[in-house]
Amino acid sequence: MAQTTVEPLTSSSEAKTTKAKGYAAHSATTPLEPLSLKRREPGPDDVQIEILYCGVCHSDLHTVRNEWTNTTYPVVPGHEIVGRVTKVGTKVKKLKEGDLAAVGCMVDSCGHCEECKAGLENYCQQGLVLTYNSPDPHLGGMTYGGYSTSIVVNERFVLHVPKSLELAGVAPLLCAGITTYSPLPALEGRQGPEGGGRRPRRPGTHGGEIGECDGRACDAVYDFGAQA
Ligand SMILES: [Zn+2]
Ligand SMILES: [Zn+2]
Repeated sequence: MAQTTVEPLTSSSEAKTTKAKGYAAHSATTPLEPLSLKRREPGPDDVQIEILYCGVCHSDLHTVRNEWTNTTYPVVPGHEIVGRVTKVGTKVKKLKEGDLAAVGCMVDSCGHCEECKAGLENYCQQGLVLTYNSPDPHLGGMTYGGYSTSIVVNERFVLHVPKSLELAGVAPLLCAGITTYSPLPALEGRQGPEGGGRRPRRPGTHGGEIGECDGRACDAVYDFGAQA
């Protein structure tokens, strides 16, 4: 399989950075190892997060082993991130220092194209930025994910997590959970096969927050035989 390698983020970048530590794979056949890396200083729209938990997604494994033949090494996986906000930019409105926050598989997009304005940033016409193994428009090199001590993310891609939730349980919601939830609103009201299927019940949204499971969300997930 094809493999590519880039140098870790370099000090030649003029952007201000802070140090972080992560676990990285350096090839498809070697274990993850500690890696020193850099995060950008938060810009006006950015949120800096101390990572407390990160789920393990199958995508992490495929990427580490280069099974999708698009891995750039070293790669720091992890896109089910939960942590505590340590700093916010001057324009950030929905989060403040000390809040609990979460980040999924996307960390940026243009924000201006038709798809972004429709809330479909994953189809951004200029290309979305994935949480890891994606070209980093701020520092150069590639983005590094949540198997690390901290991350800096544009506010648009950060969710507020209520203090009442058990944080380790929140992490898998950021990819597995959202993937399960995402089709439900689109399917709402449609009949199942032969017209006799159950109508999916739509979990309530919470204005950008991850809501506590109120029963409806759990029912909807288990209707589809998934466990988030
Ligand atoms: Zn995932
Ligand atoms: Zn866009």
